[in-house]
Amino acid sequence: MHTIGATSLAQGAYVVAALLFILSLAGLSKHETAREGNVFGMIGMGLALVATLYLSLRDAFWGNVVAVVVAIAIGAAVGIWRARRVEMTGMPELIALLHSFVGAAAVLVGVNTYLETPEGIDGVHSVEIFLGVFIGAVTLTGSIVAFLKLSARMPSTPLMLPRRHLLNLAALVVSAALLVWFVATPSIVPLLLMLLVALAFGWHLVASIGGGDMPVVVSMLNSYSGWAAAAAGFMLGNDLLIVTGALVGSSGAYLSYIMCKAMNRSFVSVIAGGFGSDGAVSDSDVDYGEHRETSAVEVADLLKDASSVVITPGYGMAVAQAQYPVADLTAKLRERGIDVRFGIHPVAGRLPGHMNVLLAEAKVPYDIVLEMDEINDDLASTDVVLVIGANDTVNPAAAEDPTSPIAGMPVLQVWNARDVVVFKRSMNAGYAGVQNPLFFRDNSAMLFGDAKERVEDIIRAL
Ligand code: NDP
Repeated sequence: MHTIGATSLAQGAYVVAALLFILSLAGLSKHETAREGNVFGMIGMGLALVATLYLSLRDAFWGNVVAVVVAIAIGAAVGIWRARRVEMTGMPELIALLHSFVGAAAVLVGVNTYLETPEGIDGVHSVEIFLGVFIGAVTLTGSIVAFLKLSARMPSTPLMLPRRHLLNLAALVVSAALLVWFVATPSIVPLLLMLLVALAFGWHLVASIGGGDMPVVVSMLNSYSGWAAAAAGFMLGNDLLIVTGALVGSSGAYLSYIMCKAMNRSFVSVIAGGFGSDGAVSDSDVDYGEHRETSAVEVADLLKDASSVVITPGYGMAVAQAQYPVADLTAKLRERGIDVRFGIHPVAGRLPGHMNVLLAEAKVPYDIVLEMDEINDDLASTDVVLVIGANDTVNPAAAEDPTSPIAGMPVLQVWNARDVVVFKRSMNAGYAGVQNPLFFRDNSAMLFGDAKERVEDIIRAL
């Protein structure tokens, strides 16, 4: 009686935890409620941990209990240490690395489940194991490549193997054949062969994707890691892991869909890999003419005379940690009665919502932070646009040059404003490695230097 009661209690805790995860996702969908969303998620995870530990350790030997507690302590210590040290600009690669751990866990759980019951595996169970190991392996190597690309340890240019789509297709066909073999005669051979194919497939899938398309890949791997966790849940018979994995998997898939829409890419080609690199040529050799340089004092004068200002931040604002002076500048301009708003591109920075997080951190009011689609039509009637460390997301080539690698990606049409000031340190290209004709337009001026220092200079000059 006691045992049944305890199990029901733990199952009840799982249901509450699952509800808290759903509330967490709902909270995270808006700036105003994001903090609460995080709190719900943390309480849910705490509850889930306690219930799982209780269920799995109830009948275990003391040696096992100690081993699990030590493993949790080591994992938690490493996690806290990394999370405290990571810079905001290092978050994308850290997240990619964390996704690879989920993939590795799914592979280990799958292989272990097989090894524990090689004789007695039925058809459904073999499919569970096979798919779990497959998704886990793709997530593992795909996320490692994403980590290497995002941290610039590997070039962000796409790997263009000959017949790469055929290679991907061959990997899927071979894996399907191995699945049939594994279900017919469960043996470690097809499982390990598929593991090798899936590891190579995951690696190739992400390696063949170009810089500008990485945001979709990151959210896609996020989704894969969810499905890998759900697969591990099936293998372990853990309902909460299935629910949580499905939540992460489906919300990641939806995020990928939103990203695809933002980047004007087809969802199906994302899954096929290397979708953004067909036939496009780099335009780095094109001569766009001369650029014009400006100074902080000149920009301050321009701003004093303006009645409307739009700020479009990008990855450089995160690098410079310029969000605090940007918030001060915004407050100063608003005190002067100038209408200041922000235009946020969906893939600005290196993480979905990267700019929104930074601006919220610096206490910029939410109601003046607008999405690209909300502000694009107003840019033509804007006096001054301040492009702070953004590059690819304000590149007119995306809209005007069909041969550009970022052709078709919707961008903030800042060049339609009366004056544009671009804050960056050099004439270097952005993440996609594409030159930006905006810098050479008659109504654009470059304000060179670290974005934080330049914004502080402007505040002083105002
Ligand atoms: P970009 O990465 O295109 O450009 C950032 C610019 O900031 C650079 O050109 C750089 O120029 C400048 N910069 C860097 N440091 C500083 C500094 N300290 N002060 C001033 N300027 C600085 O930025 P965007 O945000 O416009 O575009 C994001 C890109 O990242 C897109 O290609 C997107 O696809 C990709 N991406 C986005 C992800 C997401 O989820 N949001 C994930 C992965 C990739 P300079 O060196 O001359 O200073």
